[in-house]
Amino acid sequence: MGMTWKLAASTMLASGFSWPDTVSPTRLGIGLIPFMNLDAEAVDATVRRALDLGWNVVDFSRVYGSAVEKAQHLLRPEREQLFLAGKVYARHAERAREHLEGLLRGFGTDHFDLLSLHDVSSREEFDLVMGEGGAMELLREAKQKGQALRLGMTGHWPPALLHAAESEEFDAITGPLNPCCLENLGIMQRAAAAGKMVLAIKTLGNGRIFGPEPLGAVGEAEITPADSLQFVLSQGCVTTAVVGCKSPDEVSQANEAAMNNLDVHGKAQIQEMGFELLAGLCGFCHAPCQAVCEPGVPIQYILRRWRNFERINYDIRRLGDEYDLLRINSTACTDCGRCEAVCPASLDITGRLKAAHDTLADGRRKVAFLEDNW
Ligand code: SF4
Ligand code: SF4
Repeated sequence: MGMTWKLAASTMLASGFSWPDTVSPTRLGIGLIPFMNLDAEAVDATVRRALDLGWNVVDFSRVYGSAVEKAQHLLRPEREQLFLAGKVYARHAERAREHLEGLLRGFGTDHFDLLSLHDVSSREEFDLVMGEGGAMELLREAKQKGQALRLGMTGHWPPALLHAAESEEFDAITGPLNPCCLENLGIMQRAAAAGKMVLAIKTLGNGRIFGPEPLGAVGEAEITPADSLQFVLSQGCVTTAVVGCKSPDEVSQANEAAMNNLDVHGKAQIQEMGFELLAGLCGFCHAPCQAVCEPGVPIQYILRRWRNFERINYDIRRLGDEYDLLRINSTACTDCGRCEAVCPASLDITGRLKAAHDTLADGRRKVAFLEDNW
């Protein structure tokens, strides 16, 4: 769509959503994660611009480490005006308690408006956090003590979000949403219809698809950050779009974009461009490849996970962990070629399976692990 950014006017962007005991969350929220790579001065300027423009939702987790530390002292004096949406990444209750207490101390508060299980993105993680001794026990305890006013679930695995959307224990869900990532939209609509808060993350595709140095558009498709953000905010189910801004200018640009709602045609146009960007990538079919694969290689699962890493920069460590858990992986492929004969996207499936294996099974060993946070 090629929209030009302009400097924003100062405005409070209310979402219209509210709980009686919290401030009404704004339509845009400050995601702290990009602050990991910013110096203190840039964090200071970025946070101050967002606060000046009236943004009040803050999305953070202990595993964002230095990012949280850099922002906390700026946010502490504003506590009463903020909607603090904290997340605990630890999978076990005891460790999650440490994370929560550390975060509460850091923000100088006795409670968070929302406390969520962070990044529950596989069956194994879901079973861990929801099982005996899992982090969910800590969340229930925190709610009882008043350390968390509401409980939520965040993640990239739709079944976990669906569970939260349908469960009375959860008041909010947080998941990725952008024109190229719509897999959670139906669940978000369901959660909103049940009166729950819906926070959208990866609203700019983690900065990789729409950023200043995109991985490469496919065909003629081009989606600007403003397009993406407007697309997310125009979904009636989204309470707050969390934006990972890295400068005051980006905050102003996002603010400007949020002032314009897309009509139904604008939404459809951007969605179509999102699909075009993903053309040639796996995932928009009913996986006929699976029905013809005798060894039972989970083709779609592997290709989509690999695509996520390649295109949206999901966490390679986690994707590698998921890949390791597969009972059957790319190595079971016999190169029979049957899957390629039925693939509507004409993908080089065998080549992609091999590349995915190299990336997820070997590449992950080169990156730092977060195991000590589990
Ligand atoms: S590999 Fe082809 S057939 Fe299989 S799920 Fe992906 S796009 Fe569909
Ligand atoms: S080429 Fe490999 S993945 Fe495709 S159907 Fe044959 S065994 Fe399965």
